[in-house]
Amino acid sequence: DAKRGGRGIVRLFDEGMDEGIRFRRRVESGLSQAIDKGELSLVFQPIVSGAAIEVVGFEALVRWNTREYGPISPATFIPIAEESNLIHELGDWVLTQALDVMKQWPGQYVSVNFSPRQFRRHNFVGHIMESVLRAGIEPARLQIEITETAIFDDAERAADTLYKLRQMGFRIALDDFGTGYSSLYNIRKFALDCLKIDKSFIDGMGRERESAAIVHSIIHLGRALGLGIIAEGVETEVQVQALRLAGASHLQGYFFSRPVTADLAAEMAATRFIGGEDDTDGDLLSS
Ligand code: C2E
Ligand code: MG
Ligand code: MG
Ligand code: MG
Repeated sequence: DAKRGGRGIVRLFDEGMDEGIRFRRRVESGLSQAIDKGELSLVFQPIVSGAAIEVVGFEALVRWNTREYGPISPATFIPIAEESNLIHELGDWVLTQALDVMKQWPGQYVSVNFSPRQFRRHNFVGHIMESVLRAGIEPARLQIEITETAIFDDAERAADTLYKLRQMGFRIALDDFGTGYSSLYNIRKFALDCLKIDKSFIDGMGRERESAAIVHSIIHLGRALGLGIIAEGVETEVQVQALRLAGASHLQGYFFSRPVTADLAAEMAATRFIGGEDDTDGDLLSS
């Protein structure tokens, strides 16, 4: 009969539903409770100056350890949060935590990732300002990381937002640079402090001429525009030497440190200098 047939259709649809969609739904409902359950945490990865390997800041990276499935990568759940309103609550939690943790550091900045949807939120500037005021942190100690996607969809409005943020003293970094749609010609319109060269180019540096050429031209033109350059995903000493030689102002990656807990970050912040993973290469520390 009609009733049974209807159920059958529902069940069929359910079974035939893409595994991905089901996973997505579970992530969404899990994430909506993650803050209350205390399943979220932040880790901090040092950003060092190219010249002295001094720790100048830390990038805050969110972690989600679920009771049901164990840890889930932000690369998986951030895009899902981004497609729902969850990103706002999650982003507010990240910012508040990050501003709290950094109070223990002597002067380093914290670099916080903001998704395109957060950046386009109504009164984003006022919201950020309110958060730092509440935390009692100088705006110059907050670096706002956004991606090319966040600024190129509505370039005029984005330029205005960035200008205001910069006027208030915040630092702005363009993350994953080179993987999106922007060109060095276009970025001049935006009030930025630095470009983060995406890890994929750093990886390729020692292997292919093309990657090395891209890295060199980003550094060269970025510098000509007065921007700082952070190389992301630096894993080897060969990369460190090549990037320093090419003139990258800042470096970040497993070679120096993986993202660490707030306590360890506070120790690193107090010490200010770190070597590579191989403790025997003292030359990095002294030059
Ligand atoms: P991202 O902002 O480009 O962050 C850099 C990613 O590269 C991080 O992955 C970091 O752990 C990883 N990484 C750093 N150095 C190395 C290295 O030497 N080798 C390798 N293999 N990886 C390295 P993570 O923490 O898994 O984050 C992935 C992405 O998720 C981030 O990319 C960012 O787009 C997003 N994300 C993380 N936390 C947040 C957050 O609090 N808010 C928002 N909106 N997005 C976040
Ligand atoms: Mg980032
Ligand atoms: Mg990045
Ligand atoms: Mg990335």
